This record gives sequence, structure tokens and C-alpha cells, in this order.
Amino acid sequence: MSTLSTRSLFLITLLVHVGIAQDPMEKELSARVSQTRLLSTVRELVKIGTRMGGTPSGDKSARYLEQRFKRIALPVEVVEEPPKLAFNNQSWSLRVEQPRELRNLIKHEWLGGFSPSVPLTQAPLEVWPPSDELEDDSIRGKAFLIESPLSQRLYNRLVEHGATALLLSSPLLEGAYSEWAFIADLRPARDNAIPLYNLSFNNASVLRKMLEDDIPVTVSFSSKVTIERGSPKTVVATMEGESDSCYIVCAHGDSDSGGPGADDNASGVSGVLELARVLNGMVSSGLLPKPAFTIKFIVWGSEIYSTEHYVRRHQDSLEKILGVLNYDEIGTGATRNCLYFESNDIEHNEKLLRTLERVGEEYVGRKGFWEESTTNPSQGGTDSYVFLPDWLGRLNLPEVEVPSVTIYTGAWNELKTIPQTEGWSSQAWKGHPDSVTVDYSAYYHSSLDTPARTTEKEPFNMVWGVKAVGIALLRLAW
Ligand SMILES: [Zn+2]
Repeated sequence: MSTLSTRSLFLITLLVHVGIAQDPMEKELSARVSQTRLLSTVRELVKIGTRMGGTPSGDKSARYLEQRFKRIALPVEVVEEPPKLAFNNQSWSLRVEQPRELRNLIKHEWLGGFSPSVPLTQAPLEVWPPSDELEDDSIRGKAFLIESPLSQRLYNRLVEHGATALLLSSPLLEGAYSEWAFIADLRPARDNAIPLYNLSFNNASVLRKMLEDDIPVTVSFSSKVTIERGSPKTVVATMEGESDSCYIVCAHGDSDSGGPGADDNASGVSGVLELARVLNGMVSSGLLPKPAFTIKFIVWGSEIYSTEHYVRRHQDSLEKILGVLNYDEIGTGATRNCLYFESNDIEHNEKLLRTLERVGEEYVGRKGFWEESTTNPSQGGTDSYVFLPDWLGRLNLPEVEVPSVTIYTGAWNELKTIPQTEGWSSQAWKGHPDSVTVDYSAYYHSSLDTPARTTEKEPFNMVWGVKAVGIALLRLAW
């Protein structure tokens, strides 16, 4: 290609970009989104604790969110939901005592949910299943290193014969859990007899190797927890519109796994707060009129549990919900820099998702915006699903067609490629048009879902999530 034609190509490209003039309000909204604030909110939330619904940490998180909404002068309501059994993890310890040189081996372990409190205890460690037939009598007083997943049957058997603790190896997935622990829980109950400690795959491998070489290993452990019934608290801030028909922008406020939960889902909560601040700021400064429709900013006290309570409470006015935009994990993505909009296989999501898709296509590649975006089919497992007819039907509620979508940058703990829904192929998607590769988080439900590993490393994800939903709302609600 000659220099001249390269130059004219450049000019054409430039004209094309200048030609698509950005809407001034969309530009203003984008300029107001603060990455610094998004990041500091995640740090503050993670500092509060695991934020599980019904625990003191969950209550503290709800008070924090209430204050944040009040600071931007949005009317806010804290809804207490029916109490449920909640696990509050206060502290624990786990260490190798013998051999001495392994005393500092165990790192980034995590106490499994619904483990009981136990005093500091020492126990010989054995591998389960044992290489030789182990008499039930010789289980007593020992701790066991076991493979994931832990079955209730095995837990019961080991408890029955007097085991003192379980150390569970994380599964090894490509790029996840080698140095940090996947968080598995015990059955939600007050009376689990012995604690469960989740270990990284590598830590568990070292211990297993020792034991296979007949080197005796002794561990010490303790745990301090409370397991009590408590009410999850959902925080609802309302930006009033000309009509009481509304859009809901939401995220689950608990860490879901009972871990630090920076990506899952302090990132989503931070997105809700930031979008509320930006939109409300534009209205209160007179830049934007009052929206045509009300916008509710909601942080659920407990994933699924709180959304179910919400749809029950609002069963007579579900048709007033024009759309649900749920953030779940907008803090990281292991292999791509893509913004995903789910579920395009639900027909009545069409208008809402076409709007998001168009925003995705118009802004892709621009400075300060996503590198890639796409809609994708249903995968389940988050709050947007509770608003869909199937779920409402299961709750014996009117099966109203509430458009309900989730926005994310990484889901689950491994890369998945799924067929794209027919008729849905985004121009902003760089992969094969017939499929969607769903990016994942290497820290999904783990002991290292921390700000340092997720949001601080890729601060742009949350910014993109807020801009995309904000711009879509400017087009839908004004
Ligand atoms: Zn989540």
C-alpha cells in the first residue's frame, strides 16, 4: 500500500469517527464516571468483611450503603428480610506443626462456611481415602486431607468416627486455585461437628506427597464463628421519575462464597453506587430533566434470597418493572477485555438487550470504552433470573414478562464457549459469530478474590460496566 493511500485511509477513518458525533449527555455521563471512586468503594466494602446477609458484617455493609446513598441525597430504604441461618466467620488458624520446616507452608487457605468454633487443637494428618484399609477406630483424633468435592456422606462418616478436622484440596483448573483456595462450605446447619479448611491445590499437593512418603504430618487449627439466624438487609435508593414504572439497577451485596468477594460482587455494588451518583448528579445539577421513568438502585442483602423476597413483596406491581440491569462480577476477566450482556435467549429481553448491544457497538474501541462486547445466552446463577417468568412461576407468582439481564466481565472459574443465540451476533464481538466465549475469573469464589488481584489490576472493567448501563438508561429512561 502506498503512503498516499495509507494517509487517505487514515483520513477516512478519522472522518468516520468524527462523523459519529457522541450525544452530549452520553459524553457528559461518561466523563463523570470515576475510576478512583469505583476502586475505593470496592476496597471499603471488602474491608467490612464477607458482607453475608444476616451477619453483623452484612448489617455493617447495609449501613455503609445507606450512608453512601444519603450522601448523594437519594431517598433510601433498608428492607429487612425474613431471618435465615447465617454464618459469621470471625477468625481461624491453620498451621503445619510437624515437620517444622513446613510451618509456613499453608497460605491463602479459607475456613469453610458453617464450620463450628473449635479451640486450638493439634492432630496428626492423614490422607483420605487411605492407601490401606483404615479401621474406623483409627480415624479418631485425626485430621484428614481430602479431595474436592466433599460429600455429605464422607463428612458424616469421618465425624461419626471421631475425626477432628478436614483439609480440602481445591480443584486444579487451568489458571485457578493453584496458590489460593476455592471456598467450599459445609451444609448450612448449627450442629456441624468439625471444621473444614479449604487449601490451595499446591499446598494440598505438598502435604499429600509428605504423607505418601510416610513422613508424619501434624497440623494445628482453631476457628471462631457464630451461626445464628439473622435478617439480610437490602438497600433500595430511588431516583424518582415522571412515572412510577421503573428500571432497576442492582447487584448482590454479599460476597456469595463467604470470601473477600472483591470481584464477586463488591465490583457490582460499586457500579450501582457510582451510576446512582453520576445520574443523580446530572439531574440535580439541571443537566438532565427528571427521568420519564423511576430508577431504583438496589443492593441485595443476600443473592437470590433477597431477590425472591423482593418479587414476592412486589408481586402485584411486577408489570411496572420495565427492566432489571443486574451487575454480577464486573471487576476482572482472565483472558479477554469484554463486556457481556446476558440473557439473549429470553424473547422479552430483546428491547433491553438490543439497546445494550447497540451501545456496545457504537462505543467499542473508543478511548475509555470496552475493547469488546456481546450479548450471550442464559447461564443462570444470579439475581436477574429471579425476575424471569419461569422463576416467578416456581414461586407461585404471576408470570409477568419482566426484561431482566446481567452485565459482567467474567463468570465462573474456567473459560466456556457456548453457542450464540440465533439472530444475536454483535459487531463488537471479536470471536466467532456463532459462539460466545465467556471469560472467567481466576479468583472466582476464592480466598484471593481481593481488590489487589482483581479490581486494582483491571480497573477499567467497572468503568465500562457503569458507562454501558448509564448510556443505555439515558436512551431508555429519558
Ligand atoms: Zn455473584
